[in-house]
Amino acid sequence: MDCDDDLARDVARRLSRWYRMHRRDLPWRRTRNPYAIWISEVMLQQTTVEVVAKRWKRFLTRFPTVESLARAPERPVLAEWSGLGYYARARNLHRAARAIAARGAFPRTLEGWRDLPGVGAYTAAAVASISFGVPEPVVDGNVVRVLCRLHGLRLDPKAPATLAKVRALARPLVPARNSGDHNQALMELGALVCTPRAPRCGACPLRGACRAAKGGKPEAFPRAPRRPEPRTIHLVAGIVEREKKILLVEDKTLVKGHLCVPTFEVRGRQRPANVLRRGWKRLTGRGAVALERVATLRHSVLDRRYLVCLFTFKEKRAVPPRSRQPGSDDAFSRALVPRVPASRIRLLSPSQISRHAHGGLLLKVLAAWREHGS
Ligand code: SF4
Repeated sequence: MDCDDDLARDVARRLSRWYRMHRRDLPWRRTRNPYAIWISEVMLQQTTVEVVAKRWKRFLTRFPTVESLARAPERPVLAEWSGLGYYARARNLHRAARAIAARGAFPRTLEGWRDLPGVGAYTAAAVASISFGVPEPVVDGNVVRVLCRLHGLRLDPKAPATLAKVRALARPLVPARNSGDHNQALMELGALVCTPRAPRCGACPLRGACRAAKGGKPEAFPRAPRRPEPRTIHLVAGIVEREKKILLVEDKTLVKGHLCVPTFEVRGRQRPANVLRRGWKRLTGRGAVALERVATLRHSVLDRRYLVCLFTFKEKRAVPPRSRQPGSDDAFSRALVPRVPASRIRLLSPSQISRHAHGGLLLKVLAAWREHGS
């Protein structure tokens, strides 16, 4: 497709008509409020529309304005983000809210949004176009797919050069008015019609101009992205009750700041139960006895695959720190389990956990524990 002005206008017109008739009625599409749009866009980058539909409303109920988010301490913000993943985004959201509140107004330009902590090209273009009508293209995975197919480009969809190319192709399509709707229409087409494996070209408003569809194998475009080989990491985790509460630590390995049951890496031929005993002693000063294997859990974070061997057990009486023998903290344990300050250890009942930041692994641990007969 040659992107001359007439053709660009035709594509934009078809897209706009299709969007008016077929768009999903999503709650964040009923507002132009920059705060509400911004929260939805950050959430949409990391989870499904269905999950965001529930969590977006809840987040806005808890922090209804940018000022209320700016005033909140970090802990409740991270707790509210629990289950949405990528906590760095929640931290940046919080820092950016403080910057906006300090300034007293939302930025109205693309550059203004880009200056905020953690706001990248996608979020800046989405909020600036939807809330303030800035005629800037939004480029996400859906847009890359649609435009690569439209232009018959077999490129690596994750490569920076592809994003730059697609942004250049998307720019002339953006109308001077209603740029936000146009951007959402292109993303919506990718989500509903021009899907990765089975594009529904028969229902597509762009079919007449689409090179990939003409070639008969649209699903072959843009090209499968090169993914790094996933790394498998073996962990052992222990769940122990003290007075109907569970011992949890603030994680630094899987997701920083999350509460999780203590986990220790199992290397080479080490036996998980031994690693757990030694790790527990180092962490809490208590011995672990009557270990019972509960389950092996699978968990993924980015390109890491965790296989987690979960045990329950009982604790032996604590050894007061002063009476510990020098050397009982052996080199093995020191290497395996870094010192955890008391401030990072919590004892919580299962019902209290939801008030703290926690992730998918802890939910899997609790489910397996319940099934095992906690
Ligand atoms: S015609 Fe098919 S391949 Fe081309 S943009 Fe539409 S759905 Fe995608």
